[in-house]
Amino acid sequence: MGANLDIKSFPSCSGKELGVKISDAIRSDSHEYGHGPYSGHWAEKSNSRVEEVSLMMNSEDAQEYISDKACKLGPLLAIKTYRMPSVDTVSINKKLGELHMKIRALAEVAERRSLRPESIGMIALARAKAGKSSFKACEDCGSRLRIGRLSHNSCPVCGNLSFLLNASDEKKLDNASKKITALDEQMETLKKARAAKEANRKKPKNINDWFWTVGAWCGE
Ligand SMILES: [Zn+2]
Repeated sequence: MGANLDIKSFPSCSGKELGVKISDAIRSDSHEYGHGPYSGHWAEKSNSRVEEVSLMMNSEDAQEYISDKACKLGPLLAIKTYRMPSVDTVSINKKLGELHMKIRALAEVAERRSLRPESIGMIALARAKAGKSSFKACEDCGSRLRIGRLSHNSCPVCGNLSFLLNASDEKKLDNASKKITALDEQMETLKKARAAKEANRKKPKNINDWFWTVGAWCGE
């Protein structure tokens, strides 16, 4: 046996008046769908309580709340439902996604140990192998290493990441990290803007403009 989520809305009124309206609706459902306990509608709620939920919600949230919290064969939940400003965060999320991709691409190019051929480290390794010298000395540890045996751009003895990098590589790395920092800042600003919009969404446009959302899961 399943359950049907049956939700109805009623204009704003007192809890007592709402009780009367709900009784009418239960009678009407019993008339239409039968009195049995598994009609899938409010008929089965004839002996059950109505629980008032004192949370501010918009219509979507209220329906989701009822879907989550109402128990099958449990009481009807009644929620004061407000019209909230609609919030569009789609464009912000799209922009955030684009910035994230840009940061990733920059990080991959800049990454000295990256095995990606376009990374600055791999370009430096290829350049060293194509060069005339057979040996290269590490400025950090003084080791003299055979270039032909190198498999990555850092010093295999001390791990010096700048081992094969020239001034131009270092500058490129520096620029990439500056760009990443700037993009990170843009992302932070966008995230704050999105949070502010989302906070606004929880404030009703007009506190006096509300209606009841009432419902429960009904066995069927
Ligand atoms: Zn070294």
